[in-house]
Amino acid sequence: MGIVSAVSLSDHESITLSIVVPYYNEEEVLQEFHARVTRVLRALPESCEIVYVNDGSKDRSLEIVNAFAPMGCHVVSVDLSRNFGKESAMSAGLEHCRGEAVILLDADLQDPPELIPDMLRKWRQGYDVVNMKRRERLGESWFKRFSAASFYKLLNLLVKSEIPENVGDFRLLSREVVNHINNLPERNRYMKGIFSWPGFEQATLEFDRDPRFSGETKWNYFKLIGLAVDGITSFSIRPLRLATIVGALIASSAFIYGMIVLVKTALFGDPVTGYPSMMIVQLALGGIQLLSIGLLGEYIGRIFIETKQRPLYLIKSVERRAELKKLPTAEKIA
Ligand code: UDP
Ligand code: MG
Repeated sequence: MGIVSAVSLSDHESITLSIVVPYYNEEEVLQEFHARVTRVLRALPESCEIVYVNDGSKDRSLEIVNAFAPMGCHVVSVDLSRNFGKESAMSAGLEHCRGEAVILLDADLQDPPELIPDMLRKWRQGYDVVNMKRRERLGESWFKRFSAASFYKLLNLLVKSEIPENVGDFRLLSREVVNHINNLPERNRYMKGIFSWPGFEQATLEFDRDPRFSGETKWNYFKLIGLAVDGITSFSIRPLRLATIVGALIASSAFIYGMIVLVKTALFGDPVTGYPSMMIVQLALGGIQLLSIGLLGEYIGRIFIETKQRPLYLIKSVERRAELKKLPTAEKIA
């Protein structure tokens, strides 16, 4: 056994690799997760820490995490005051990690920790961001795959900076990129967009995403639609421009049509016909107007949230459990 201590990490101790893990009601998975991650980390020569962020779990998850022994790496347990959502929990993790390279990992073992050495290798080659692209989405319905694919298409049509398709939150970020992200002032955190926004040297590795180890996904379709709207509206104002263009087109064609009606009435009189066309025009216009007002509302709502300047999350406690000495790996003992 290594020397496990409850002392806090001294500020000048440097850490090479941080693993950031947001979790919400994952009691069934966490033991297995910690075992698999530490197995990978212990084989690495780099000094490392795992930053667990409890996003207001209502089950025994926090208890389980606080009992983890820091086997070969430091364990940091950040406890948020309630459920703030995965995007905020990841922000909390990014602000509490110290590594030179930071990897975001889901607690449900859908992102295999065994890929960490490959990601580190890319980072050593000089890349600042290593995107992990899903080759296949095992254990996900065709409908989810289809809606995800359409969403990424639409997003990249509307957004200027390229947001890679089928890359989730699983990725490696260099300290420089993490610092830039931590300094972004916005409240609305659509992380997949935020991760791509800084740019820098990007590499992409492909992997097969495993099905969930245990438990249920925390996202239902309503939440996913909300995330999609957040994604588009926080990175693009093109929908507003589109509304303006459609409005201008309709207004100009209405003007031309009005002229035609006027001339026709003057020349041939005005028998009352045209109820169907009237209804169609009215309904179409009404629909487009309501849609555009809704769109305006989405953006105004976001301005409202940004101006309130509330913090992204509140922290109940942070616990650092440091290991004084790195455990010797099996090879070293032999
Ligand atoms: N998660 C979180 N806060 C939430 C919802 C989810 O921290 O409000 C965590 C969850 O515990 C998991 C990760 O985010 O570690 C991904 O969630 P999930 O597996 O439900 O999403 P999916 O993989 O289905 O997209
Ligand atoms: Mg998952």
